Amino acid sequence: MDQYILQNGLPADLDGLKKEDFVLKSGKILARGTVDPLSYPGFQTIEAGGKLIFPGGIDPHVHLALPTPAGNSCDDFVSGSRAALAGGTTTIFDFVTPARGQSLYEALALRRNESAHSKVNCSLHMGISEWNVKVASELASLLGAGGIRSVKTYLAYRETIGIRLHELKEVMELASRTGTPVMVHCEDGDLIHSLQQKFRSEGKLSPVWHFRSRPPEAEIRAIEQVVELAQVTGCTVYIVHISTRKGAAIVGAAKKSGIRVFGETCPQYLLLDQSVYADGTIPEINQGNKNGTDDRERDQNSYRILPFIISPPLRTREDQEGLWEALADGTLDVVATDHCPFNLYGQKDVGLHDFTKIPNGAGGIEHRLPLLYTYGVLQHRISLKRLSDLISANPADIFGLGNRKGKLRPGYDADIVIWDPDIQKVISVENHQSDCDSEIYEGFRIRGQVDRCFILPQ
Ligand SMILES: [Zn+2]
Repeated sequence: MDQYILQNGLPADLDGLKKEDFVLKSGKILARGTVDPLSYPGFQTIEAGGKLIFPGGIDPHVHLALPTPAGNSCDDFVSGSRAALAGGTTTIFDFVTPARGQSLYEALALRRNESAHSKVNCSLHMGISEWNVKVASELASLLGAGGIRSVKTYLAYRETIGIRLHELKEVMELASRTGTPVMVHCEDGDLIHSLQQKFRSEGKLSPVWHFRSRPPEAEIRAIEQVVELAQVTGCTVYIVHISTRKGAAIVGAAKKSGIRVFGETCPQYLLLDQSVYADGTIPEINQGNKNGTDDRERDQNSYRILPFIISPPLRTREDQEGLWEALADGTLDVVATDHCPFNLYGQKDVGLHDFTKIPNGAGGIEHRLPLLYTYGVLQHRISLKRLSDLISANPADIFGLGNRKGKLRPGYDADIVIWDPDIQKVISVENHQSDCDSEIYEGFRIRGQVDRCFILPQ
């Protein structure tokens, strides 16, 4: 039976709390408001008294089974989507990441097959890992009627998937013809590369040097350049995982001057900070153990840091506050997770003694809603409605699903989360749904939990 009445729920898309009923039929929202169950014979009634009703979460930035030299990111489409559902996310966007030389069509077909195992709705952004005549013509045929509705590019990772600024400009010119948004990983690849070379030549190879090779300026400079390209090309850009207050401010200023730019941040940049990289033995440990630190102690320190090796890295508390403010005042539009976990043992530790070999990324797909509810809404940093927009309505609108997902409206897909705000939990590697052997939010206390998810499969 596929007909439900949710009674007395508290919709999260309103400015105040007000009880409403929702009628769901065949995976669609039929009605909302005050509903007389007698008008709907044969519908199953679900009492949602006191619980919040969210539109299903949409996470537009996850990397399941992402191939890297250290192996695939350790959540595949089965475990990753299971974790998504546990956190109230009913739609994910993953990426096609063509290898250099590989056809976009082939990469897309392979990725579509893999993503078919997802238990939640899954769409794919098309990654552009190199730029030449063949890639350009393939992309041109895929945009618009070809079914690709968003493009992803990297200014970092120059050796593997990154492209140059003048190439990005051409991608944006092409995408602007179909109104397709281009997502950009904004970190200045040249600056990072030169710092990596410098540290390497100085024998500075422990994990903390990853953090030091990716300073805030690398992000800020790249965001400035990309915003300028958006202005010149008229292309809509979406800046992923903004980690700095200054980066968010550039997006805010660009919006005010009419440039079509959207900004995303992630829970890790809102709730974790660079103190996790503290390493009291730096720099002596890298210069022949002059202070007598033994190897085991040094490695323990490195293992503690490894789970937090992400790009961009974590920043200051001052940046965190800036990002929260930017979420509240509309400067930033989306909170995604950039879910991309790697096991500590056997994957992250491949780079124990060479930070350039550490696979970058961490998990978080199942914690977005509970973390933002607990540390955002309950701490009065963002309203409940703003939370609902940041995790559902806005990503739906930006990535072409806005006419059927992201809102609790009659006619929309019944991707719905019933959220019990009273449950208290502590996040731990012991109880998370991800397949990862470590957890960057270990010990975080959270309020609220998914009571039940409804989902209309694509
Ligand atoms: Zn990413």
